[in-house]
Amino acid sequence: MLVVKKFGGSSVANKDRVFNVANRILEDYKAGHQVVVVLSAQGDTTDELLAKVAEINDNPSKREMDMLLATGEQQSVALMALALQALGYPAVSLNAFQVAMNTSRTYGNARLKEINKDRIEMELERKNIVLVTGFQGINRYEDVTTLGRGGSDTTAVALAAALNADKCEIYTDVDGVYTADPRIVKDAHKLEEITYDEMLELASLGAKVLHNRSVELAKKYNVELVVRSSLTQAEGTIVKEECKMEKMLVSGVAADKDVARIAVIGIQDRPGKAFDLFSLLSKNNISVDIILQSIGRDGTKDITFTVAKGDLQDAIKLIESNLEHLEASSFLFDDNVAKVSVVGAGMASNAGVATKMFEALYDADINIHMISTSEIKISVLVSEKDADDAVVAIHDHFKLGVR
Ligand code: ADP
Ligand code: ASP
Ligand code: MG
Repeated sequence: MLVVKKFGGSSVANKDRVFNVANRILEDYKAGHQVVVVLSAQGDTTDELLAKVAEINDNPSKREMDMLLATGEQQSVALMALALQALGYPAVSLNAFQVAMNTSRTYGNARLKEINKDRIEMELERKNIVLVTGFQGINRYEDVTTLGRGGSDTTAVALAAALNADKCEIYTDVDGVYTADPRIVKDAHKLEEITYDEMLELASLGAKVLHNRSVELAKKYNVELVVRSSLTQAEGTIVKEECKMEKMLVSGVAADKDVARIAVIGIQDRPGKAFDLFSLLSKNNISVDIILQSIGRDGTKDITFTVAKGDLQDAIKLIESNLEHLEASSFLFDDNVAKVSVVGAGMASNAGVATKMFEALYDADINIHMISTSEIKISVLVSEKDADDAVVAIHDHFKLGVR
């Protein structure tokens, strides 16, 4: 049996945690399994590296950022190999270059394209425990790339798919996937299982327990995932295609604070103006999320939309220098906002979910700025300071803690 196990940063944060993980790896190895392990950088290493960059350059090149950020994962795998060797077991660490984990060109948010299995398979043949750096890849220029924050989950799922692994386990600092972030909602409930589609929505809407690309890949290659704690033996949550449980009306609540809102005011109310605005943004690689257009009045209209906080400055500069071309009069922005969402496969056939969500927010006296819906989710934009309260209020109102 071949097992892929991924351990996040907090699971390998210090010496004791490293040995704790080494022993969990050995449970499989001693049972005679082939073990491939993906590790993240220890503890807050990635944030610390980002802080160092901020001291030195306020407009850092993405290439050099990736070169730097990828070092965190390399420390982890080498230290883990040394820990396993200290315990008397054969282990080898590999970085993305050594494996050949090929990605798209984009620095900072690259996509895995192709993984070469040869080196890993050779090391497994030699009875080695194989430790692979998460989060990083190599692009066509042989430069180091990274997969976006939280990307080690994606490395693990991609490896599990490429190696046709029998199991893919994601170990983290909570027992599994909960109905809401258990650090914010005390009575959040651990889900025994969740479908790829629901998990993908939750992950994309801010539940960072899994990187959203990892869920996308798991669905595409039908890799069943287990999310569980590296610190307890609790069962964890299974992420898979179909769940035996009845489709839940609402399976979880998530908040995303990495959101900013921009309003472009007084745009000429004519065909093509929305196209002008959004093509300007997309040409510059700025993704737009919730969009709201006002009713045209006196020949003009307003378009309000959200972007990731990291894109706000670029978006504003673009709009400012193109106001005339867009035939708009002015713009406003606000980065103290957050998106709060409910997700559930069952809501497609139930009209009452939105009403209930708005009722919860009304009872908690929280104002809604924008609303967006899809088949299995409803999102609202609220002030950032209200985000946690909104999650708690909605979670309470849907009684997600009591199952
Ligand atoms: P790792 O370093 O192991 O990758 P992360 O910090 O990326 O861990 O993700 C785990 C964290 O995700 C948890 O500590 C928890 O606070 C947060 N989280 C957010 N939403 C959820 C949820 N619905 N279920 C479980 N954890 C969640
Ligand atoms: N170390 C990277 C990060 O902090 C990748 C990961 O943890 O998955 O985002
Ligand atoms: Mg993570």
